[in-house]
Amino acid sequence: MQVLLLSDIHSNLEALEACLAAAPAHDMVFNLGDIVGYGANPNEVIERSRALGNHFVRGNHDKAAAGLMDLDDFNPIAGMAAQWTQKHLTSENLEWLRSLPSGPVQLPELPDVQFVHGSPMDEDEYVVTPRDALEPLLLSSVPLTFFGHSHVQGAFSSNPIDAGALRPVYKTVGQAEASSWPLKRGIQYLINPGSVGQPRDGDWRAAFAVFDSAARTISFHRVPYDLKKAQDMILAANLPPRLATRLAAGR
Ligand code: ZN
Repeated sequence: MQVLLLSDIHSNLEALEACLAAAPAHDMVFNLGDIVGYGANPNEVIERSRALGNHFVRGNHDKAAAGLMDLDDFNPIAGMAAQWTQKHLTSENLEWLRSLPSGPVQLPELPDVQFVHGSPMDEDEYVVTPRDALEPLLLSSVPLTFFGHSHVQGAFSSNPIDAGALRPVYKTVGQAEASSWPLKRGIQYLINPGSVGQPRDGDWRAAFAVFDSAARTISFHRVPYDLKKAQDMILAANLPPRLATRLAAGR
């Protein structure tokens, strides 16, 4: 089974469309949360995401926009974006966001996989460093965890040879590219497909990944998208300008 992994779209419709156009054939889509927040097209992104299937976990920005979380935990810019999003969502989309499940989610057809937004221990926890990954790697009951939240594409593994974080290597800064790895049996992995709509690993291109459960490989992808259009929409919506400029830096 080929599973298309999308995470942290953050209302960036241009980035989502570029990922879907570039994605290889797949049998299922799993969305790891933060569908909304930051970008200017929350309704369009929700509707496009819902049309791809029914496999989701909620992110902290989904909770904030749905009124399920106190905005005191957000920085001022993220808080403004959450309030803007809440105001602009249709009532149907707001209801749908409220109904999203928290992770970990498991699927009968993929028994050795779990899906979370932050960490398997806590949906709002960031897994950024090998130290952060240690506890989830040791305590997870399944070998493969797909997560988001950090907006950094790559993986952590329990294999001592990997010595910490694994990052895909790309040759260009502006073209569509993919980087595939085999996943070893007997090793625990935490794998982040990267952020579709607001990458923070220094690469502005939209990120996603494809898991092949039969071949046991993970393919990381980066695709250019209409950055200018996404930025112009953010500015036209009177969202904080920083949310537009940061997209170009991938930070
Ligand atoms: Zn996010």
